[in-house]
Amino acid sequence: MVIATENTGKIQEFSKILKDERFEFLSLRDIGFKSSIEETGKTFAENAQIKASAVAEFLQKQNMEALVLADDSGLEVSALNGKPGIYTARYAGVHGDDRANFMKLLHDLKGAPDRNARFVCVLCLIDAPNSVRFFEGECRGSITTEPMGEQGFGYDPVFIPSGHSRTFAQMDALEKKSMSHRGAAIRKLNEYLQTL
Ligand code: IMP
Repeated sequence: MVIATENTGKIQEFSKILKDERFEFLSLRDIGFKSSIEETGKTFAENAQIKASAVAEFLQKQNMEALVLADDSGLEVSALNGKPGIYTARYAGVHGDDRANFMKLLHDLKGAPDRNARFVCVLCLIDAPNSVRFFEGECRGSITTEPMGEQGFGYDPVFIPSGHSRTFAQMDALEKKSMSHRGAAIRKLNEYLQTL
């Protein structure tokens, strides 16, 4: 199974949770895929499919057979009408500047009484030509007024999942995974893989 990402952390996370001995997990680097994929979709699902399809096409040209998995994720904030959404990674302008992104979010929500938000993760699996499947997970919660915690990545320091009093960045990886959007989507994917 090719995981359509260059992020080795994501590959490890997926292979650990999926724990399926029938699969070997490969990254884009492992298969020699070097092009950059433009995420031009309007939804998480469209962007995940764009990534998965580009890699599936590449594999076909090389006569390589593999399942392809891609993911897209982000944060939707109620008071901002669902923003930053698909722009979560570049909310403050520079792609992947985590601190700038969450500081902009705190600034935009200054004084806002409604701090509800949800993380969304959509996985796209291409498991045969013309067979595209989606698995979605969400995690509802709220945005803090200041960053708290050092662990995790992205918006973790400003997100408290519903029913908890600590941010994702104040939890260890295992605790976060048990309630995270990505964990939920991966569990759905796992159920599907068991039926193959
Ligand atoms: P992508 O799916 O790698 O494009 O990530 C989209 C953006 O959402 C990233 O920039 C992260 O900052 C944010 N994000 C996605 N999942 C999480 C998470 O579990 N914690 C914190 N931020 C996340």
